Amino acid sequence: MPNAQRDQNNVKITRDAAGSSLVLVCEHASSHIPKEFKDLGLVPDARQSHVAWDPGAAGVAQGMSSCLDAVLLETTVSRLVYDCNRPPNAPDAMPDKSEMHVVPGNIGLSETERARRTKLFYEPFAMALRQCLTDKTSPVLITIHSFTPIYNGTPREVEIGVLHDSDVRLADAMLSVASECVSAKVERNAPYGPSDGVTHTLRTHAIPYGHLNVMIEVRNDLISTPKRQMEMAETLSVWLRVALQSLGLTAEGAPCTV
Ligand SMILES: [Zn+2]
Repeated sequence: MPNAQRDQNNVKITRDAAGSSLVLVCEHASSHIPKEFKDLGLVPDARQSHVAWDPGAAGVAQGMSSCLDAVLLETTVSRLVYDCNRPPNAPDAMPDKSEMHVVPGNIGLSETERARRTKLFYEPFAMALRQCLTDKTSPVLITIHSFTPIYNGTPREVEIGVLHDSDVRLADAMLSVASECVSAKVERNAPYGPSDGVTHTLRTHAIPYGHLNVMIEVRNDLISTPKRQMEMAETLSVWLRVALQSLGLTAEGAPCTV
């Protein structure tokens, strides 16, 4: 099954046996809050908003997984339950406030509860990702996110952010490809960057091992429908293929047929 999916300890894995060396990750794929957390005390609007997840990002990541014949790991719970792009000791791993929303169910969490959620959600995700990377020869790690067009009342003009930490190789190559694309406003380390703590996955799983890596952020109004998510996936997949070629590598994926 070329597009087989399975859930394993709160991690959704797609194309486990994919042929390419690319490993795709979507840490904010889901807005799901398991019943036991009683909606974290949030109203429905907040539970469905970008504070709970990255709307559209999973659709883009699934499309890229198909285009590039790449394995994809997704989280299955809201980042308000546990943000898998944050280490357990970060306050915003289980935030009690996100943008303008207070998260009642996260206020005053005990160390025991923080440790329990870490064990339930963060550790299985980190372990599954480590395993995926170990299974590949010269893996390339790509994380896929979306951001809100208006943050704290201020519109954001950037459409696609290409983010990196200390290893700039793949981000530079992608930005070089994107600079030839006049139809999108693409920026480096925008709308935020490593100083905001957003490169945890890259720093933990790629940089210490010398794996090529990049984080992609797409403004969520551009990927509001499955069709637009697929179009964005195709664009980003082409950029990645060309960027990897410029670094002397291939994505080794099947041709994009969707
Ligand atoms: Zn995100």
